[in-house]
Amino acid sequence: MKYYILFGPPGAGKGTQAGAISEKYNLKHISTGELLRAEIAAGSELGKQAKSLIEAGKLVPDSVVEGMIENTFNTEKNVAGFLLDGFPRTLGQANDLDKMLESRGEKVNAVLSIMISDETIKSRLAHRAQIEGRADDANPTTIQNRIDTYHKQTEPLIEFYKNCGKYYEVDGECGDIEDVRKAMFNVFRGMDKKFLDRQVVIDEDLLDKVQRMAQDSPRLRMNYDLRNSEEDQSQRMLNVMLPGTKTTIHKHNLSSETIMLLRGKMDTVFYNENGVEKERIHMGGDTGVFGVNIPKGQWHTFEVEELAIIFMAQDCAWSPLTKEDMLSK
Ligand code: AMP
Repeated sequence: MKYYILFGPPGAGKGTQAGAISEKYNLKHISTGELLRAEIAAGSELGKQAKSLIEAGKLVPDSVVEGMIENTFNTEKNVAGFLLDGFPRTLGQANDLDKMLESRGEKVNAVLSIMISDETIKSRLAHRAQIEGRADDANPTTIQNRIDTYHKQTEPLIEFYKNCGKYYEVDGECGDIEDVRKAMFNVFRGMDKKFLDRQVVIDEDLLDKVQRMAQDSPRLRMNYDLRNSEEDQSQRMLNVMLPGTKTTIHKHNLSSETIMLLRGKMDTVFYNENGVEKERIHMGGDTGVFGVNIPKGQWHTFEVEELAIIFMAQDCAWSPLTKEDMLSK
């Protein structure tokens, strides 16, 4: 899982940019402000506690927002990661987040910051008050409190994340929404190289780590990307499949597929176009079979007997299987 923080003062455009980023990178967007507003709208106990603090431009207690964050981490599994918006907002929250992630064997990948001046904060919030009707945007005293809270409690996080080498900044006044979006995607592209084009030793420790991640996933599967960047038009990955996994019978029309079994026991099964089994290749254990090259267009499936970790390569970019690529038996 990847953990990105979208950082910046109120009105910087975090919410505006979050949708496109989370869609492109398959991230779950978590806005603590939105979650709190939903609690207020629902009239929950938590919402009642938060309402007066929010309307005064003050922060709600750490335990409240951290509970909401952890809850989302625990329930949202079918994503590549999370995009945190409005959290952390204090050094205490940043330290708690590190602890939370450490206990999951994870860490913050990067902080993307959108910067605007205090003057722009004021004019943007006044404008947003007219459009969205948020009470905390309408009142000048609340706005000033939010700006003060930002400078006093949230701004120190910039140094904190700079010191970890995780801080990336975009000028939120460099142009219109589209220009800021492009600047943000450029930052992501630069980071992709940093994250993907790195030295990776494929050893027992790494296999243990990806195995744990797969076991935690409801899909009981997990891919570990080994490409140079998101733009790399190949597929090279470690793929973990838990016992009992039987993939749909499918084929790849654009590339052959090479798999090498690094751990476990599984069968690769070839089918003809009528769904009749043609050949079954036992792999792993004492079979002496380590891998298979599956020709382009060959119907096949994987049946996993003992937790299997494979190295998989294809010479075209990944794309989801279409109906035509799957054989219904
Ligand atoms: P936002 O929508 O991010 O501007 O948040 C609106 C308000 O919700 C803030 O002014 C705070 O009162 C509260 N809030 C949001 N996120 C946090 C957080 N991480 N810690 C404490 N309070 C928060």
